[in-house]
Amino acid sequence: MTKPVIAIVGRPNVGKSTIFNRIVGERVSIVEDVAGVTRDRIYSSAEWLTHDFNIIDTGGIQLGDEPFLEEIRQQAEVAMDEADVIIFMTNGREGVTMEDEQVAKILYKTKKPVVLAVNKVDNPDMRDLIWDFYSLGFGDPYPISGSHGLGLGDLLDECAKNFPEQDDTDYDDSVIKFSLIGRPNVGKSSLVNAILGDQRVIVSDVAGTTRDAIDSPYEYNGQEYVIIDTAGMRKKGKVYETTEKYSVLRAMRAIERSDVVLVVLNGEEGIQEQDKKIAGYAHEAGKAIIIVMNKWDAVVKDEKTMNKKIEEIREQFVYLDYAPIVFTSAKTGKRVHDVLPVINRVHDNHTMRVQSSILNEVIMDAIARNPAPTDKGRRLRIYYGTQVAIQPPTFVVFVNDVELMHFTYERFLENRIRDTFDFEGTPIRIITRARD
Ligand code: GDP
Ligand code: GDP
Repeated sequence: MTKPVIAIVGRPNVGKSTIFNRIVGERVSIVEDVAGVTRDRIYSSAEWLTHDFNIIDTGGIQLGDEPFLEEIRQQAEVAMDEADVIIFMTNGREGVTMEDEQVAKILYKTKKPVVLAVNKVDNPDMRDLIWDFYSLGFGDPYPISGSHGLGLGDLLDECAKNFPEQDDTDYDDSVIKFSLIGRPNVGKSSLVNAILGDQRVIVSDVAGTTRDAIDSPYEYNGQEYVIIDTAGMRKKGKVYETTEKYSVLRAMRAIERSDVVLVVLNGEEGIQEQDKKIAGYAHEAGKAIIIVMNKWDAVVKDEKTMNKKIEEIREQFVYLDYAPIVFTSAKTGKRVHDVLPVINRVHDNHTMRVQSSILNEVIMDAIARNPAPTDKGRRLRIYYGTQVAIQPPTFVVFVNDVELMHFTYERFLENRIRDTFDFEGTPIRIITRARD
């Protein structure tokens, strides 16, 4: 299911990030420690009552020393490109300013629904402040207070009313959706072209999609695929495209809609922080992952080069030790034909269900080899385990006391499970539950 997206736009200091943080809440992320993905976040999933959506704080897409008009134009453009609904935020205490009018002028051009929010209306006595804002021409202004958390329910209800119908944008379950993510210029578009240019690939029209303008559906060996967000990869030249935060945001959106994520690296260059951030997000999102080392043709090699590169990748992406690595050249086409079979393989693993009886044999055998830890004289007891989900494979392990299950022991169990079942290319999750 593709979640609707809300973007917040407005001049500086009206309270965009305050509202963003309020709506997102204090959700602690695992990756925060691992790869720094979510540090100073501008994009996050959120829930409000029955609504599930993603939210973007376009104010966080700092472009440096751009003049106000240029900066706001680019932020609004991101919102108009990426969002289903735009929250236009203003400051009730200051009234309508010239800058608000400039923002409004840009937003008149969008066909997306715009909901006008008047922030800093901190108590009911201040509600009269909103009248002024009708002049902006976006209908009823919604009074809110980021500091006090007031009015957000009504504002988000209004946004939700404008969420698009979802049904026709999803692909059939049998279709493998994948995306290529990575820094600019690592060769993502070239790889897509090389894959699609392969004569054995038939460009197909997967039924019932409204996203084919963005995605590339095709068929190979009787299997249907969709390359997610091909348009986003091909669209070049816009100034904001080159800003790191924007490309991370774009990648996050593509990752979310994918089953399999190809993390594309440039073989000519070392691994960079941004590579790790994006990969970290794919890992956190529980997607099947393949590491693609592209531009391998451009690397001066001897017989040790590949192994050295593998070592470097394993060191840099410690938490991706399950991800297969493919060395490609989009330029010469070398090994590009390996990509699809690997996608099939990791997708199979990502959707694999294991038998409970075998799983429990593995767990019992693991306990016998390496007795579970004790804490203050109490020993962890594991009763049984069962797989509760796929994509990614998720296991619930029932124990006497969840406090006694330590990260290292969980890791040990994960490794034993991986030794028995082929989970190459997929993260697996273990959830510990108490049972007495
Ligand atoms: P942004 O630049 O639009 O992201 O604005 P910020 O979220 O950084 O907020 C700018 C300033 O306004 C900060 O000092 C906030 O504490 C303050 N602020 C945000 N929301 C409210 C509010 O509802 N009421 C009041 N009084 N101040 C607020
Ligand atoms: P993207 O920004 O990640 O989509 O990267 P592009 O596909 O636009 O490629 C960026 C540049 O790298 C272009 O000049 C490509 O011709 C070049 N390039 C892409 N793949 C390869 C490759 O495998 N080998 C070499 N030598 N160059 C490549």
